[in-house]
Amino acid sequence: MFTYAGNIHIHSLYSDGSGTIEEIAASAAAAGLSYIIITDHDTLDGLPEEGIRHGVVVLVGAELNRESHHYLALNLEQLAAGNEINPQEMVDRVRQSGALGFMAHPFEKGSPYIDRGKSYPWFRFPRDGFTGLELWNYTSTWRGRVTSVLRAVYWFFFNRKAAVDGPPREALALWDSYTSRGMRVTAIGGSDAHAARVRIALIPVEIFPYRFLFCTVNTYLCFREEMSDHFTGAREQIYDALREGRCYISFDQLHSGKGFSFTASGGSSTPAVAMMGEEMTWQEGIDLLVRCPTPRSEIRIIKNGRLVYRQSGPELKYRVTASGVYRAEAYYIPCGRRPRPWIYANPIYIRD
Ligand SMILES: [Zn+2]
Ligand SMILES: [Zn+2]
Repeated sequence: MFTYAGNIHIHSLYSDGSGTIEEIAASAAAAGLSYIIITDHDTLDGLPEEGIRHGVVVLVGAELNRESHHYLALNLEQLAAGNEINPQEMVDRVRQSGALGFMAHPFEKGSPYIDRGKSYPWFRFPRDGFTGLELWNYTSTWRGRVTSVLRAVYWFFFNRKAAVDGPPREALALWDSYTSRGMRVTAIGGSDAHAARVRIALIPVEIFPYRFLFCTVNTYLCFREEMSDHFTGAREQIYDALREGRCYISFDQLHSGKGFSFTASGGSSTPAVAMMGEEMTWQEGIDLLVRCPTPRSEIRIIKNGRLVYRQSGPELKYRVTASGVYRAEAYYIPCGRRPRPWIYANPIYIRD
């Protein structure tokens, strides 16, 4: 199995971001990422700049809708129209065009101290037809926790690692409610990078530069083969992994998620080893295996939205006793402090 770190949900100069795609790709290369997905607001102007830049696969999608129900549409050939009144209609249109679609920051709360409290959540959730949801959006969760100016200053200038503490509970519950009903729903992480340039007391400040955000909430893709050196091949591999859910979210600011794995194997099941996002037929003797890149880990197994097992240490083996939707979470344990939400892996679907 091969894993590749990348960053999804990035704004460039084609909408309200501050960098060119070339500059953003250079920042991604400096952060050690393998791929990035640019999603400017209601435009595909960046599409001609897709390719391999600075060794990074650069893909271009779009973020549809303005005031609410933001939707990340990827693998689009032509821009699709949004629909804030009836988002299901937009979801279906994106699906019919063969593109992938993810609900962006569905439970965004905003902060009374930033942008006059503006937020862009979802109210009407689609029945079906979407690929997944953005479970953890760095910028959005950061803002949502700013409940005083003092907190904002402390987190921004003195303790950035403490500012973000896991994805919204409501997003986790929404994800689990879809998958528990039998749907396959891919969870992704996003940075929502804008690298806004502002002046604070006349001093120019770049709020969360691209390079910084590319070391926060990343989405790692799992491939059975190495990533192609050719752009079209790599593009297909990336979108296949996102469509199928062969990916996990890692808050790399705590510790790199590289080296994490979540698989199922055992019995005479086919496939012999299932990766996250894949299905397996239930039978006796299936084990889930989770590996983390550091012993400072607490690993949790969630079945149909419920915590069924947890254990500290870099590795966990869990014997499956019934069919269900199984996903894995890992918490990072800083020295002498409480475990912090770190990795969220897409489910392995064990069907009857
Ligand atoms: Zn948005
Ligand atoms: Zn955005």
